[in-house]
Amino acid sequence: MSDPFDFKPKMDEYAVMGNPIAHSKSPIIHSLFAEQTGEPVHYSAIQVDPGGFVQAVGNFQAAGGKGLNVTVPFKQEAWKLVDARSARAERAGAVNTIKIEADGLFGDNTDGVGLVADLIDNNGIVIRERRILLMGAGGAARGVLAPLLAEHPAALHIVNRTPGKAQALADAFADLGPVSGSGYDRLALEPFDIIINATAASLAGELPPLPAGIVTAKTACYDMMYGAKPTPFMDWACQQGSGKVLDGLGMLVEQAAESFYLWRGVRPQTSAVIAQLREQLSNA
Ligand code: NDP
Repeated sequence: MSDPFDFKPKMDEYAVMGNPIAHSKSPIIHSLFAEQTGEPVHYSAIQVDPGGFVQAVGNFQAAGGKGLNVTVPFKQEAWKLVDARSARAERAGAVNTIKIEADGLFGDNTDGVGLVADLIDNNGIVIRERRILLMGAGGAARGVLAPLLAEHPAALHIVNRTPGKAQALADAFADLGPVSGSGYDRLALEPFDIIINATAASLAGELPPLPAGIVTAKTACYDMMYGAKPTPFMDWACQQGSGKVLDGLGMLVEQAAESFYLWRGVRPQTSAVIAQLREQLSNA
């Protein structure tokens, strides 16, 4: 006999869309957030074919879905699709979070605040008045620039394999703070306080052509990528004597927490979720 007091609230539907998507950790992260906060959130992963993004979002909206995360390769398409954007999404040129509202789609970008929260809150890294080196000039680098500059670093240098892209990105954000750009061959051989790898090099098991002499024991080195093993950049940073070498798992959970907050108005605790994911990764 069914228990009349066993009442389960109707779930609100959320999802992440991307291609590929099978590897995504977002469903597990948001399920843990829902469990922790008691919010009636059901979250799934939807693989979308190239050219099918707008249709897929429309179908999800028509079915009553409340919100979406968007990942590679649809973040720019999402930026174009939404009806309104947060200031940080506007600057990033990419949307990773959509809130489906009665009057349309609201787009946000939580990658940058996720990185800054992981650096400052989870790892005690000071950005204010520090010298930062940001490697890469693709979507991830663009998304984190405004939130990093908002913390008032002394200088932020973007270095990229294609130097013109680093320079163009620096020019596009020059109104927000002391930002410059160059190729690796023009990198000043002085130590940085924080080095962030926002390139796709780690995905291919490669190391960007970094010179010696830019790392001391006080330099924090952060790779946006994460996995069971340290990336080539993390190995290099250890060899150069960095005192703090981190991967991007915390950023992933923090950007998810910011999306959850946008959707539900409730901020989940992240430390237990990061620890749980870390354990899963090491057992994988
Ligand atoms: P993009 O494809 O937009 O940009 C890739 C960048 O990496 C370009 O600047 C490219 O240089 C550079 N690059 C690629 N290969 C090499 C190499 N072998 N040596 C030096 N530079 C290289 O990718 P994204 O910006 O979207 O993503 C970058 C990384 O950030 C990915 O690893 C992704 O997984 C990670 N990421 C992590 C997140 C998290 O939450 N932890 C969130 C978002 C991204 P060029 O311009 O010369 O081609």
